[in-house]
Amino acid sequence: MPPPIPRTSLERALEFLNTWDTLSPEPERIVDSAILGRFMHWVHDRPEPVDVDERSLERFRRARAELRVAFDAPDEASAVAALNGILAARPAAVRLERDNGAWRMAHEPIQEDPIEALLAESAVALLEAIRDGGWERFGICAGSPCTCVYVDRTRNRSRRFCSDLCNDRVSQEAHRRRQKAG
Ligand SMILES: [Zn+2]
Repeated sequence: MPPPIPRTSLERALEFLNTWDTLSPEPERIVDSAILGRFMHWVHDRPEPVDVDERSLERFRRARAELRVAFDAPDEASAVAALNGILAARPAAVRLERDNGAWRMAHEPIQEDPIEALLAESAVALLEAIRDGGWERFGICAGSPCTCVYVDRTRNRSRRFCSDLCNDRVSQEAHRRRQKAG
């Protein structure tokens, strides 16, 4: 079953980052431009295919690495500086929009290129997540060898894994270890 289509720009940002998945023997999930085209189409839930070419693949991977700094940064200030830097180089048009009865800032990237646009949108989403919940909520999966990222929304900041899959995998491994020991 394919994962649910991301509904928010934050969910899109996380899907984008987690296309590098060290849990698989081949961590790169976006192995060629055809798969990149499918991913971009899926992540934006667009009716039309997204135009990508051979060079897009390299831009996609560079953009993903640039965005990942927000999680690998040593502290909040460095993460914010990195994300601000992404936006400084890729301006977005800002407007206020109605969203389920509340006002929401909408950022429309000015970039024509869908990858640059995804990067700008993702940077805004991560900055908003820092503003709303603090950078301490940015996490890297504790289920080695997985290094996927997440933003913890639990009340008591108890999240440790990127997904239920990693959570279950690690607890099963621990269970097996205990059985062996016993
Ligand atoms: Zn994980």
